Amino acid sequence: MYKAKAYSAASATSPLASDTIEQRDLTEQDVQIEILFCGICHSDLHAVRNEWSNTVYPIVPGHEIVGRVTQVGSAVTQFKPGDLAGVGCLVDSDGTCQACKADLEQFCPNLTYTYNSPDKHLGGVTYGGYSDSIVVHQRFVLRVPSNLDLAGVAPLLCAGITTYSPLHHHGVTKGKKVGVVGLGGLGHMGVKFAHALGAHVVVFTTSPNKKEDALRLGADEVVVSRNTDEMQKHTGSFDFILDTVSANHDINAYLNLLRPDGNLTLVGAPPKPLEIAAFSLIMGRHSLSGSNIGGIAETQEMLDFCGEHNITADVEVIPIQKVNEAYDRLLKSDVKYRFSIDMASLKSE
Ligand SMILES: [Zn+2]
Ligand SMILES: [Zn+2]
Repeated sequence: MYKAKAYSAASATSPLASDTIEQRDLTEQDVQIEILFCGICHSDLHAVRNEWSNTVYPIVPGHEIVGRVTQVGSAVTQFKPGDLAGVGCLVDSDGTCQACKADLEQFCPNLTYTYNSPDKHLGGVTYGGYSDSIVVHQRFVLRVPSNLDLAGVAPLLCAGITTYSPLHHHGVTKGKKVGVVGLGGLGHMGVKFAHALGAHVVVFTTSPNKKEDALRLGADEVVVSRNTDEMQKHTGSFDFILDTVSANHDINAYLNLLRPDGNLTLVGAPPKPLEIAAFSLIMGRHSLSGSNIGGIAETQEMLDFCGEHNITADVEVIPIQKVNEAYDRLLKSDVKYRFSIDMASLKSE
């Protein structure tokens, strides 16, 4: 074992603070990464504050990790010291179940999340990316294109794959009409991907002042969702709608905008159960789905796609010392569009 610097929370009501954690020595399959940037995902905040009632303390969150390989185990073939590397929400799975065999590790019943998941090497739970170092099985380490800004790459590992995967799964290509509901951390990535895939992109927002930004990010049209007339103009016209909103909202208003056989996929998680009018689905054979990150192969495909199309997240880079303030701002949606922690700031702790 070796010691790493980190920021951890000691309880649901404690702020994140400087800490020292233990990481495992490399097995032959492991890659050790010096973490350069880690994005802040809303899940980090939910976990730190035990809002899903499963947090083990101390917790070191962070699953949008980008860094440089410092050491590799003897059986590692895909990475060498000095390479750029990324780690997302998953660090291990059984590798033998149907989901794993289909490159859908995110559905493996025996997967290990990057943080707050039982650690089969050291006991206790896994520690995430708010740290200067992490050790991960090579199967869960991603290659990072060298032409991209690393601070903006970090959020691709969760926000990026969360939005890329459903667009890809539902066949979004050139000529399709795609709606993106909500323009936050997830929504802004959805817009960039749908645009780069060649779709006609319509952003739905409750804030008219987001219009200019939506167009800059790649939207072709912006609809203020409170304006019923504007909404109605789009009835029956969408091939696919990506709903990224995590506040309660009327989903029927969007289902009615789908063309026959159109799909709406949820990636946001409103706290209350949604009310679905049966006719919103029956008429036009609409379908409603959810989606959760993506498998490792698809995450690599997404990163390669980002390299080709020069796509990164729009980030505000902060030192780790500002992380608690960033959490408060996250709750007010006061960030364009994702925080990325510069881990060099951890050196002064
Ligand atoms: Zn996340
Ligand atoms: Zn599995």
